[in-house]
Amino acid sequence: MKAVQYRRVGHAPEVVEVPVPEPGPGQVLLKVTAAGICHSDLAVMGWPEEQFPYPLPMTLGHEGVGTVAALGSGVTAVAEGDAVAVYGPWGCGRCPKCAEGKENCCPHAAGLGIMPPGLGSPGALAEYMLVDSTRHLVPLNGLDPVQAAPLTDAGLTPYHAIRRSLPKLLPGSTAVVIGVGGLGHIAVQLLRALTPARVIALDVSAEKLELAGKVGAHETLRSDGEAAARVRGLTGGIGAEVVLDFVGAEATVAVAAASVAVEGDVTVVGLGGGTLAVGFGGGLPFEVSAAFPYWGSRPELMDVLALAREGLVSAHVETFSIEEAPEAYERLHAGDIAGRAVVLPQG
Ligand code: NAD
Ligand code: ZN
Repeated sequence: MKAVQYRRVGHAPEVVEVPVPEPGPGQVLLKVTAAGICHSDLAVMGWPEEQFPYPLPMTLGHEGVGTVAALGSGVTAVAEGDAVAVYGPWGCGRCPKCAEGKENCCPHAAGLGIMPPGLGSPGALAEYMLVDSTRHLVPLNGLDPVQAAPLTDAGLTPYHAIRRSLPKLLPGSTAVVIGVGGLGHIAVQLLRALTPARVIALDVSAEKLELAGKVGAHETLRSDGEAAARVRGLTGGIGAEVVLDFVGAEATVAVAAASVAVEGDVTVVGLGGGTLAVGFGGGLPFEVSAAFPYWGSRPELMDVLALAREGLVSAHVETFSIEEAPEAYERLHAGDIAGRAVVLPQG
């Protein structure tokens, strides 16, 4: 089968031929119907050799949807032909966090060598993929696979990030979304679907700001040195109750800190390497809460798929064949993908 692999640190991903894996006990083999391409993969492929944490070569892709193609021994919870989405942040399955479905917070996964598909384990950018447990499958129940693939990360991660702030997103409140890419354009829709907040979107690209307006942002602003002052101007000097930063660079966390209101939330989702000083004298308004969430829980993925089924969120996608996946990564790197790039491994 064809697979898109990161093979050597510092080199572009390649499309290669590898054997179709066989499901072991408890495992499920999926025929991958759609796989999204996330900016995190670019971050991973930018890490230096001495800090690279995963075995290479590694099949990429942590946003996957497929149909069940074969069952390992003992698997009864799904049947061949079932259409499912893959819940990616795999945990140990035995601890209290995992029992709550919060495998993204499993404290044992790393120590046990359990790694998400595409981020250590073989991922979804292939014709077939192995899923280690039916715990990590969520039924599509009629949802379009091309739509569903981005929702497993680009939908789930903003949903999880926004949920922590729902009590602050009251009538008259403001939410700022910094970076309206794969995650950000779904964040705008989630904010509109779940809250009465006014949504202000910031980006460096006019095209992305146009998309932000189309998917529901009330205001769109260029992300530059004036952005925080403009957010304050639009909020009567108060600032935004919630700022979600989907870039996470030094410059954007500074905008987030300068835009947030007293008692507000700053949530840094992007892996841009910027850090925020929390504490008296750090520059944040009093009572601000800061967080850097990781992916989301399995029940939250079910929620996001339900929102999509209701037509309340939809991913803006551009599709690629598996041979075109390296080009999709190049285009994402160049800032030239609006919404999400989705690879269709079956052609
Ligand atoms: P993307 O490339 O699709 O979108 C990034 C957007 O940010 C683009 O629209 C780009 O124009 C914009 N941007 C770049 N610089 C900017 C600036 N200075 N100000 C405002 N906007 C700017 O990326 P994505 O796939 O949506 O991922 C977004 C970030 O979230 C990445 O850093 C990714 O690694 C991270 N991520 C984190 C998690 C998590 O669990 N915390 C999960 C998935 C992705
Ligand atoms: Zn991702």
